[in-house]
Amino acid sequence: MPDRYAVIGHPIAHSKSPLIHGLFAQATGQDMVYQAIDGGAAPGGFERALTDFRAAGGRGLNVTLPFKLAALAVADLASEDARLAGAANALRFEDGRIEARNFDGIGLVRDIEVNLGLPLAGRRVLLLGAGGATRGAVRPLARAGAARIVIANRTADKARTLAAELAPHLDGVPLVGGGLAALATGEAFEVVINATSASLSGAAPELPACAFAPGALAYDMVYGQGLTPFLRLARAAGCARLADGVGMLVEQAAEAFAWWRGVRPDTREALARLTVPLA
Ligand code: NAP
Repeated sequence: MPDRYAVIGHPIAHSKSPLIHGLFAQATGQDMVYQAIDGGAAPGGFERALTDFRAAGGRGLNVTLPFKLAALAVADLASEDARLAGAANALRFEDGRIEARNFDGIGLVRDIEVNLGLPLAGRRVLLLGAGGATRGAVRPLARAGAARIVIANRTADKARTLAAELAPHLDGVPLVGGGLAALATGEAFEVVINATSASLSGAAPELPACAFAPGALAYDMVYGQGLTPFLRLARAAGCARLADGVGMLVEQAAEAFAWWRGVRPDTREALARLTVPLA
């Protein structure tokens, strides 16, 4: 019997995870199946689906919106990244216990450093947005050696509160939070990451062109949308290095796969299959 894994979310039909993990399993010769489970909109749907999946012999789950917080809450053991993110995106069932991890930030760092070839050590990083994606990205970015991290959000107080909460956990890497308007004062960043959901509604965060240092990377966590409003804004500001979040998605999946199976998959095939040109 193949080992069972799944991704759970609501809605879930759009999920690329079954395709990605199917490719990984094929390439590494792992005897496993991977399905998508809709946890539904009703309260308790995630917990019920989780119980059923474990009872049917499930070995691990990827967790996507809106269940990432609930996934951390059900865990017996959680990594520090997951605890600081306040959310888990991968679960493993072993020895009767539920273990939780959050690989989103690690996936982002691997995409930037390995796939895009930009070492983060010594770079000034601007994170736009103060939601779950930013929360999960800060610690891995600091661990990669970022010189300084700034969180800028439409609602400035949310960014300030988040920065104050996370700063003590970054081994001295400076982290500050504030509003988008403060960016007009002129600090420039070598890496500018859009972790807002603005692109999904056809908008871009209001960002001055001076925020992009010469040669900066502009990275939109949204994927599969081509040239998003944020990437268009970055290009108009003279930024030539543009990327969307498809590599982050694929790399967080590879981290989960390696955690579950003990084998690190090559991500190139999945990346090639899912990449939408930025045009
Ligand atoms: P979230 O928790 O809902 O946070 C949304 C953030 O976007 C908030 O800070 C919000 O600001 C800001 N925002 C929304 N509309 C805006 C606008 N028009 N202008 C400026 N700011 C705006 O969302 P999340 O979970 O952090 O996810 C953020 C994005 O990352 C989503 O697009 C998601 O798809 C993407 N993501 C991608 C991956 C991947 O693997 N590639 C993984 C995780 C997330 P306020 O606080 O002012 O409301």
